[in-house]
Amino acid sequence: MSSKLDGEKIREYERNHVLTPWTAQKGLKPLVADRAQGCYFYDAEGKEYLDFTSQFVFSNLGHSDRRVVKAISDQAARLPSINSQFATESKALLGKLLAEITPGDITKSFFSTGGAEANEGAMKIARLVSGKSKIIARYRAYHGSTYGAMSLAADFRNWAYEPAVPGVIHCLEPYCYRCPFGVTYPGCNIQCARHVEDIILREGGARRVAAFIAEPIMGPGGLITPPEEYWPLVREICDRHEVILISDEVMTGFGRTGKWFGVDHWGVVPDMMTMAKGVTTGYVPLGATAMRAWIAQKFEELPYLHGHTYSGHALAMAAGAATVQAYQEDNLIENAARMGEYLMDKMRQLMDKHPSVGDIRGKGLFCGLELVKSRKTREPIHEALMEPPRPQTAKMKLLAKCLQDGVYIMAGAASVIVLTPPLNVTRDEIDHGMSVIDAALAIPDAEYAD
Ligand code: PLP
Repeated sequence: MSSKLDGEKIREYERNHVLTPWTAQKGLKPLVADRAQGCYFYDAEGKEYLDFTSQFVFSNLGHSDRRVVKAISDQAARLPSINSQFATESKALLGKLLAEITPGDITKSFFSTGGAEANEGAMKIARLVSGKSKIIARYRAYHGSTYGAMSLAADFRNWAYEPAVPGVIHCLEPYCYRCPFGVTYPGCNIQCARHVEDIILREGGARRVAAFIAEPIMGPGGLITPPEEYWPLVREICDRHEVILISDEVMTGFGRTGKWFGVDHWGVVPDMMTMAKGVTTGYVPLGATAMRAWIAQKFEELPYLHGHTYSGHALAMAAGAATVQAYQEDNLIENAARMGEYLMDKMRQLMDKHPSVGDIRGKGLFCGLELVKSRKTREPIHEALMEPPRPQTAKMKLLAKCLQDGVYIMAGAASVIVLTPPLNVTRDEIDHGMSVIDAALAIPDAEYAD
């Protein structure tokens, strides 16, 4: 499609007719995206930007991968849409591929159109197959913005819409840098995991608690990476109390952390895994709720009373199958692990140099730098549970400077700079992105107090 509107007209139409998510509208002057290729996208004036967060952590294959684009256009030419009661080649293939790359006996998937819907499906399935209603989730989590998914989180983004869906109980998160239990790893007896058991017991244990849901590494909450023992212990606890373990792999899935899925780092098989984003590298909206054989088996007799008009949409299925095959063909999971080590080295160098970098963490190409006002007090650059960072905070000024210098990093809510480039990023591209961030860190450094 050749452009008929210039950049100013596009901004004007959007300004008047489109409500942009997650922000007040006054004064918005968004960059007009025109085209994209590999790790780069270009604005209407032709300026190039290195995409250092894969948009909202979804462009795992980079932009405009020709194999995925061709699969979508071939599907569009042959059968652009058909309802979910029909079998299609691309749906069958994607279902089979997901069964192959997910751990253990996770064999069947329900398809929706995004991460929130994938979690809605998981919540309903957990209640349906267990006959119990309570679901435990964590503070600082993010599972999506529909009502059910939103209820699984608890921060300023919910307040205007409360009361949320009943039956969700929150527990504390495994945040070693700011341990909510006031203890220090490794001498902490992994309180954060044992606390999950305490909450399960207090809420009625096996008789009352249906499920525990968590991101393997908390993404939007600030790349919060649990201690090594956390996930195996949580799996044991859920088994002991007959609680369904749901891993939200919406951000951590599809090679992002240097393994196919986040839980693969700990050899844990959850009962359900929710996915979106990287499953189609973002080219077509798609969510998936994948389940172990024992759950799928329940639906042999029990009707699965849930679905969407676009469940298993033909274009999304074609995109998903082609995307998974492209990850395999290009060995991108291995590349993410290798490049992740390189990125971590570079983050260490930035931490040595910049006092405002309080912590660095993550796995593979799922990394973050936490910004603080003081390394001694660990006071964050803004309190992420209470409000979004305002434009005048040092973090937002840093991101604006990076954008001006041609490096895009998504804003996010936490006091963290998220570093999640596409899985096929090169060393040179990492060097370039990190040198721009290096210069921009002068902004939070100037507000540093110690
Ligand atoms: N779960 C996690 C961990 C996420 O990071 C997100 C989105 O960022 C979601 C769920 C919601 O996905 P969606 O925005 O596709 O509904």
